[in-house]
Amino acid sequence: MVLVMDNTATVDLPSCELSRAERASAAFRQKVKNYAPEIELDYTPAIAREMRPLYNKLKSLFSEQEWAVHAPYIKAINELKKQRNAVILAHNYMTPEIFHGVSDFAGDSLALAKEAARSDAKVIVQCGVHFMAETSKILSPEKTVLIPDSKAGCSLAEAITAQDVRDLRKQYPGVPIVSYVNTSAAVKAEVDICCTSANAVQIVESMNAPRVLLVPDKYLAENVNNQTDVEVIPFEGRCEVHEQFTAPIIRSFRNAEPDMKVIAHPECPAEVLEEADFTGSTGGMIDWVKDNQPEKVMLVTECSMSDNVAVENPNVEFIRPCNLCPYMKMITLPKILDSLLFMKEEVFVDPAISAKALRSVQRMIDVKI
Ligand code: SF4
Repeated sequence: MVLVMDNTATVDLPSCELSRAERASAAFRQKVKNYAPEIELDYTPAIAREMRPLYNKLKSLFSEQEWAVHAPYIKAINELKKQRNAVILAHNYMTPEIFHGVSDFAGDSLALAKEAARSDAKVIVQCGVHFMAETSKILSPEKTVLIPDSKAGCSLAEAITAQDVRDLRKQYPGVPIVSYVNTSAAVKAEVDICCTSANAVQIVESMNAPRVLLVPDKYLAENVNNQTDVEVIPFEGRCEVHEQFTAPIIRSFRNAEPDMKVIAHPECPAEVLEEADFTGSTGGMIDWVKDNQPEKVMLVTECSMSDNVAVENPNVEFIRPCNLCPYMKMITLPKILDSLLFMKEEVFVDPAISAKALRSVQRMIDVKI
């Protein structure tokens, strides 16, 4: 195994992959050169000077060598997005060169979709996974929504189909169905209302029913069930990132760092949340760190979030258990540049499905919390 840079992060690749990665990078640079020769992807002294203030902000995260790879892409993307009248919306799990380098707005999935609707830009580049781009399209059907890699999926969103929801309706007649926003547009179109990890308890209780189905995240459903008198019926979906955390793992970190605070995402198993000092959505976790300024903290969630939050909280030491989301990591600076240059890959949602899905999302937004 060798350690190489793939334009976004340091990764382990088998040696046979090294030349493939290098070849792909060279081919992409040649493509850019042919199509837009004015774009400079070499780390020239002029680019180094212009990008120095941003590097000073991020230098705890990147070596000079890593920055030399990222900086030309960041500059090119920021210039091109203005020409395209585009905004870049980045999920909290994006790598820091995307999160801090090129995004116009960063947040959790619902915050991104709301921002897409608020923005005057004609083009939305969604730096996140596919269901997030779909949600932005549902809320902004008149805008062009691009995702830099349409194969960026999500193990939760892929755990349930529209047919599964129709089958659940037959199996549980009269029981309201709430879906987490981590679902396809087709699933959102079939359910009664959506929820996020920030508002799931309130949304379940707003149904005014003794039993509610909460799909597809089994752990979120179990965690909501522990906080309400409503019987919450789970489905069998799981986030493949958060399900890797266990109580013994958290305890071993705590034994090594007894003073640290543990902040967990509700997609983790209940035994993990029992070990935590605070549980919240990605937005809630960020606010908690900002407001409480603990000496040491461990964010029990996707790995990049600690990097992104650390930049804004220099007095807090972050203990990093590193579980990467392979889908989020499919979004890279070269792919964002490719997306903006060639206006791809555009996200479409069938208008009939979009109208029904919008109703489920809008009902959630309308619940007074
Ligand atoms: S972290 Fe989990 S829920 Fe989020 S996109 Fe990745 S697989 Fe899906």
